Amino acid sequence: MLTDKFGRHISYLRLAVTDRCNLRCKYCMPAHGIDIVDRAELLTYKEMYRIIRVLSELGVNKVRLTGGEPFVRKNFINFLESLTFNDKLDQINITTNGALISKYIPKLEELNINAINLSIDTLQAEKFKKITRRDVFKETLQTLEKLLASKLDLKVNVVVQPGINTDEIFDFINLTKNKDLVVRFIEEMPFNGKGLRQTDEIWNYDKIYSEIEKKFKNIIPLKNKRSSTSKIFTIDNYKGSFGIIPAFTRTICNDCNRIRITATGMFKNCLFDEGVFNLRDFMRKGVSDDELKQIFIDTVHNKPENGFIAEANRKSKTISESMSTIGG
Ligand code: SAM
Ligand code: SF4
Repeated sequence: MLTDKFGRHISYLRLAVTDRCNLRCKYCMPAHGIDIVDRAELLTYKEMYRIIRVLSELGVNKVRLTGGEPFVRKNFINFLESLTFNDKLDQINITTNGALISKYIPKLEELNINAINLSIDTLQAEKFKKITRRDVFKETLQTLEKLLASKLDLKVNVVVQPGINTDEIFDFINLTKNKDLVVRFIEEMPFNGKGLRQTDEIWNYDKIYSEIEKKFKNIIPLKNKRSSTSKIFTIDNYKGSFGIIPAFTRTICNDCNRIRITATGMFKNCLFDEGVFNLRDFMRKGVSDDELKQIFIDTVHNKPENGFIAEANRKSKTISESMSTIGG
């Protein structure tokens, strides 16, 4: 089993299936995109399948497929289908920007995918274009509607961007009035290719919560799943709920049960470390499953206590990665 030296059990893998993306969100990457790697440097589906199988034999029972945009990788649906045959996995979830996926929703239901996290940071078409630098608001909204009508669990991710979409927090909460979804407000992090954006105001967990409290007096805290990244609330009599993810203030590390693997096979114990082991190169040497297992056990053992320590341990002190290469 995978346990670190603080006694935390690792049961959740977030895997970036690609570093490519069809959008260019300003908080995630520069306008010209990131320097994508050669295809040969990406993990193949076979390698990803093997990593997941081996990790599942070590107690990982939940996988989130992310990216880049997972649906831009060719044959992603076939890969998903292959994963559904791994009966050690209790949950297969996907994080997506939604622009390409509305036609796949029936298939995702058929495959019993558990939950979709849909990233949409504004409910206004013009603003959407400015944030994502692409004109696909209609497609994303259509996906949102189809997901709401589907049996898939839906979480909507909103990166709170000071000066850009903070005026829409109430609109997003109002979405939860009659709809069964969770809207999660995420603190903006410096993973945009050039480091933390300078803003006049800092919108952290406390600020987001106090803003919501100004308008809604009847906020009810809901019981959190241990190791959940967000604190969850509902407004009295609302069908859905909302959460706030202290991604940058990092107050959630004590219960962390996650590891990440980037699209090039870099193993990350923490979102804020710079990658601690290159699995792809290791596997391409022809290692056995047992050798792979031992590397996972040893690497997880050294998981840093929290995101601040992981950041302090980085060789390069400036954060210049994009979230799309890390696999958010
Ligand atoms: N392309 C997919 C999407 O946007 O959902 C999956 C990959 S994206 C990197 C995963 C999540 O990371 C999204 O919810 C996105 O909003 C979030 N994200 C990206 N850059 C971020 C940043 N600088 N700070 C906080 N969240 C960020
Ligand atoms: Fe692409 Fe997701 Fe990054 Fe936006 S947040 S650029 S959709 S990877």
